[in-house]
Amino acid sequence: MKTIYVDNNATTRVAPEVLDVMLPYLKEFYGNPSSMHSFGGNVAHKIREARAKVASLINASPDEIMFTSCGTESDNTAIHAAISSVPDKKHIITSRVEHPAVKNLFEHLSKKGYRVTFVPVDRKGMLDLDYLYNSLTDDTAIVSIMWANNETGMIFPVQELSQVIKTKGLVFHTDAVQAVGKLPIDVSKSEIDMLSISGHKIHAPKGIGALYVRKGTRFSPFLIGGHQEGGRRGGTENVAYIIGIGKASELAATHLEEMATRVEKLRDKLENELLKRIPNAMINGDTENRLPNTTSISFEYVEGESILLMMDELGICASSGSACTSGSLEPSHVLRAMGVPFTAAHGSIRFSLGIYSTEEEIDFIVEKLPPIIENLRTMSPFWK
Ligand code: PLP
Repeated sequence: MKTIYVDNNATTRVAPEVLDVMLPYLKEFYGNPSSMHSFGGNVAHKIREARAKVASLINASPDEIMFTSCGTESDNTAIHAAISSVPDKKHIITSRVEHPAVKNLFEHLSKKGYRVTFVPVDRKGMLDLDYLYNSLTDDTAIVSIMWANNETGMIFPVQELSQVIKTKGLVFHTDAVQAVGKLPIDVSKSEIDMLSISGHKIHAPKGIGALYVRKGTRFSPFLIGGHQEGGRRGGTENVAYIIGIGKASELAATHLEEMATRVEKLRDKLENELLKRIPNAMINGDTENRLPNTTSISFEYVEGESILLMMDELGICASSGSACTSGSLEPSHVLRAMGVPFTAAHGSIRFSLGIYSTEEEIDFIVEKLPPIIENLRTMSPFWK
């Protein structure tokens, strides 16, 4: 059975070009980049090249990029760096729709004595900017707002936000894990202080990430050890994976155009056809302001998990907008924050396309999903 993979916001396949450049550094060139000999020195040179490639994708300078193990570590590092640089400040701001990598850390910090402002979103998933601006105080240690939402694809105006926050002299971090590789990003046109990247969302392997730290940003390291990463993260570098994320960043830059044209068209086709063929279906989020590859669609009166299971039998991989916690299927915090009605939030599915998605795959989903929903609805006590 062929796999129809429309879950690229969860993870992406490793690009063959990425694997090719990584393998020699797992097999032959195993030197330690900190060694004095040239066997290690050559590896250090490849790390410098990779750093420059990641920097170039977001128009940063190479010394503003530090490598981490994943997007979660980048988020945690940025937030810890900011709050530990100003230990007297006890107020932190984020949104209600962040990924758990930020949301759960903020909840943890609230138990440690931090006053947390969770900025709400409206029914379309847009951030309440007035609420955010009115929350800024001299006591604010960090504002962390994602660039694009992983579930709905909603894009937040982080460049403008960073400019306002800078005028107040506060630190701004953005989780750009879903935005990088899907949208053009130019940190030089913003006042963003720190920005998180995850390799496995841009066709590098799982287990590598990066954090942009603007020159001059106060920073205290999370991992204290050797002098690696300019003293910002101790630990011998994950050489092959760093080389991998470097190549993936180079490729991502060349794929931006295709994302904005071919991939977006395929996403729109999938969405339009499904809405045409399936009654009581609706899109979650503002369609004017979304990532080109993502759609979150609610099918009323069915369980997202049931839809996923039936699609899985046909080889279709997608995600649902609910999480099975303690036996009850809770709609995701993102859909709840948007006020998506219960009957719709339960039946929400996220399709996230990628550069390997094809028209045939979209046609297959469009053909197979309507009867699945129809069948499931005949079993629902709420479907008339
Ligand atoms: N932030 C966002 C918006 C994400 O979508 C994800 C992963 O899904 C992460 C952070 C965490 O990234 P990683 O899986 O690399 O830790």
